[in-house]
Amino acid sequence: MSKRDYYEVLGLNKDSSQAEIKKAYRKLALKYHPDKNSGNKEAEERFKEVSEAYEVLSDSQKRATYDQFGHAGMQGAFSGRGFTWSDFTHFDEFNDIFGNLEGLFRGFGIGTDFFGGGLGSQGRRGGPRRGADLQYEIVIEFEEAASGVEKKAEVQRYETCGSCRGSGAKAGTKKTRCPTCDGAGQVVTSSGFFNISRTCDRCEGEGEIAKTPCPKCQGEARAIVNRSIKVKIPAGVHTGNRLRIQGEGESGLRGGGRGDLYIYINVKPHSIFERRDYDILCEVPISFPQAVFGAEIGVPTLNGNIQMKIPDGTQSGKVFRIKGRGIPKLGGYGKGDELVRVKIETPINLNEEQRSILKEFADACGEDVTPMHKSFVNKVRQLFK
Ligand SMILES: [Zn+2]
Ligand SMILES: [Zn+2]
Repeated sequence: MSKRDYYEVLGLNKDSSQAEIKKAYRKLALKYHPDKNSGNKEAEERFKEVSEAYEVLSDSQKRATYDQFGHAGMQGAFSGRGFTWSDFTHFDEFNDIFGNLEGLFRGFGIGTDFFGGGLGSQGRRGGPRRGADLQYEIVIEFEEAASGVEKKAEVQRYETCGSCRGSGAKAGTKKTRCPTCDGAGQVVTSSGFFNISRTCDRCEGEGEIAKTPCPKCQGEARAIVNRSIKVKIPAGVHTGNRLRIQGEGESGLRGGGRGDLYIYINVKPHSIFERRDYDILCEVPISFPQAVFGAEIGVPTLNGNIQMKIPDGTQSGKVFRIKGRGIPKLGGYGKGDELVRVKIETPINLNEEQRSILKEFADACGEDVTPMHKSFVNKVRQLFK
């Protein structure tokens, strides 16, 4: 089901001021007012719709989120899956809007939504609350990403107080009925002609409070604890990978489950290897004669040096692939390869003898020994013909 845009619902646009929003809501709330539309289901829905739009657009923070993300950004803005009357915070304005109209809501079936249905069942209001998820970043060496490693995450988190086992009451003492809500968990306040039910602040909806708070957690039922958690990092991880460690987040409240711990992996760069997915790239300098005559050169790998043959006539920039010397594939079998790019070094600091030999070599060459250069020169000639 597609949801109408809040601005459209109120007949406004994104630039509307707070005063315009309020005015538009006033007008529509009167139009769909229960008293004037007794038993009209559609009017009831519209009344709720405009109230939802007003709830969001009248709050600058919610409005900004909505402007940026639309309805998708509103998940979590309400206590349940969507807007219910228990999310509405402008009941006080009703007096103002409707004046002394008796029997507000009388014609509607709003009551259930108002006084029960929307409350208590969704966690935030007194029911079990799941513990928060935690995030932790672990920086590892390039080699550790390749081999896998075990690290420790030093986290600070809320855990159920061991002293009172999460009750908040001092060991040996009982909890007593909350005097503020008389054990109901909800406080009903009258605002003009109708009642609003809210979660009791004192007991947070539980209906009970600790007469003698647990001295260890001050009645909070949870306490902050430092923990060192073992994290097994599998071989093959990349920077940006996220590991989820189930149940290592914070403890829940009122019987709610534990949150999870998310580990964010950050792999340090390596001085000679560069990662390309599961392959690793390494640049190896070779001398001009080695490139000309071919050679066996030493090449570093993640598991020590190996010898690699390069053929005669190797050009600078040529990439050789060494199978299976890369990074193990995450969650699968096999490894990437090592790519060796050779770079021919121009000799420097030549002595007299070396210079004269090279000069002699150059004189003897002509263009025949440098086919790439020859073809390049030909192309340039074509260009300027
Ligand atoms: Zn305690
Ligand atoms: Zn209470």
